[in-house]
Amino acid sequence: MTDFSQSFYWETLPLRGARCRLDDIYARVLRGFSGPEGVAKLLGEVLVGLALLATTQKNYERLIMQTQSKGPLKLLVAEMTAAGGMRAYGRWEEGATVDFSNLPDALLAITVDMGMDRDRYQGLVALRETLTASLNAYFTESVQSPAYFRLAVDVAAQQAGGYFLQRLPGVLRVEDWRVATQFIAIGSDQSLLKAQPEQFLPEIFPEESVRLHTEQPLTFSCSCSRKRVERMLVSLGQAEAEETLATEGAVIVTCEYCHEVYRFADTDIALLFAAGKPLH
Ligand SMILES: [Zn+2]
Repeated sequence: MTDFSQSFYWETLPLRGARCRLDDIYARVLRGFSGPEGVAKLLGEVLVGLALLATTQKNYERLIMQTQSKGPLKLLVAEMTAAGGMRAYGRWEEGATVDFSNLPDALLAITVDMGMDRDRYQGLVALRETLTASLNAYFTESVQSPAYFRLAVDVAAQQAGGYFLQRLPGVLRVEDWRVATQFIAIGSDQSLLKAQPEQFLPEIFPEESVRLHTEQPLTFSCSCSRKRVERMLVSLGQAEAEETLATEGAVIVTCEYCHEVYRFADTDIALLFAAGKPLH
């Protein structure tokens, strides 16, 4: 198993945390990606942030972490299913410098989808200068349980991982929180990615015992399918499909997450709209 998340907690302190490693998922997301390095890095960060945040959630069907703005980075989104399937993509203005500074009206949204006929709820915070700072703010403002994130992404090596700590209800000394967060804040991304939690977590509070849960496997997975694309084409309408056919010779839809290409020739489109009824 290469990609996973893993929770841990201190038995006698109101403090928990998690770590994750997403190299395969990140490499798969970068395959077929040809945008600026800034976006490549943010894709890794949003995946890591979501995998860590997911360790605080129960009974969800799907989690979505998304940033939106009117600036050069239009959209950054990562999704995770209850089974541990993850995917992500970004949309940006070509040629623009993409980072979180100078993004007007930028928001970070965390959506918890509980499934078919159950609730869906969303937490929103204003986007800060980094995703780390935005996630910390989300936990302080929306969850009201302070958290500290460290997201480590090496674009060239296609490595992505991280740690996070969360204060739980109960009395944790300010000094203890500072010591714990300092432990995951210091050092290079590479040293953090290499660190063995069995060795370094007990060093934070040598007097207290820390427990690690088993690793939860995570994988890349995309929910796109030809049927879903057909439904989307039907909802756009026959006129639009025929117009594309006339100008392009075929209707070609590429999944923004996995880059799968769905091609519809004129006969496919004719069948799809046969008798004016959607097939699905
Ligand atoms: Zn796809």
